[in-house]
Amino acid sequence: RGETPAPPVGTSRLTVLSGPSGVGKSTVVAHMRKAHPEVWLSVSATTRKPRPGERHGVQYFFVDDEEFDKLVANGELLEWAAFAGNRYGTPRQAVLGHLERGEPVLLEIDLQGARLVKQSMPEAQLVFLAPPSWDELVRRLTGRGTEAPEVIERRLAAARTELAAEAEFDRTLVNTSVEQVSAELLALMRID
Ligand code: 5GP
Repeated sequence: RGETPAPPVGTSRLTVLSGPSGVGKSTVVAHMRKAHPEVWLSVSATTRKPRPGERHGVQYFFVDDEEFDKLVANGELLEWAAFAGNRYGTPRQAVLGHLERGEPVLLEIDLQGARLVKQSMPEAQLVFLAPPSWDELVRRLTGRGTEAPEVIERRLAAARTELAAEAEFDRTLVNTSVEQVSAELLALMRID
């Protein structure tokens, strides 16, 4: 936990933030980007339907199954994974473009995706966002209020497995407060 030194600046500017569903990854990222809009966050493609307030091209590129198949077939995704009945993937070209220019890149993706990125880009820094406790995670997943009970059940089942994956990550951040964790994430990304 936290023992591997971060790669030197310039070696890799790719940081992958992952962790169980409902742990608060997107809240942390949103908070961090309010203060640091220059941090480029990859926008994923997904087959999930937009939640209220979500916009195409902002939170996600919302695509149908056929379009997603095409992205996969054309090799346009750096990684993709099925999660809770939908597919999610990272557009390859945009990520590589930013990295080629030496700019910091942040991916906020699920655990399977994080593993795939590490396989193809071992220099990526994998950051695990852990909940303060299991009870807190259940509370957050249940309290979102936007999902049907069976969807919550599926997400909880995924979270149980996902918590065990912490060992595969370079760093762990415990989501005690959004302010603290986003500051820690910025430090790991070497952004001040
Ligand atoms: P949600 O439906 O709550 O927005 O996202 C569900 C899960 O999919 C989250 O854990 C989120 O981090 C993950 N996710 C979002 N985009 C991607 C992606 O491009 N690839 C992968 N593997 N997971 C993603």
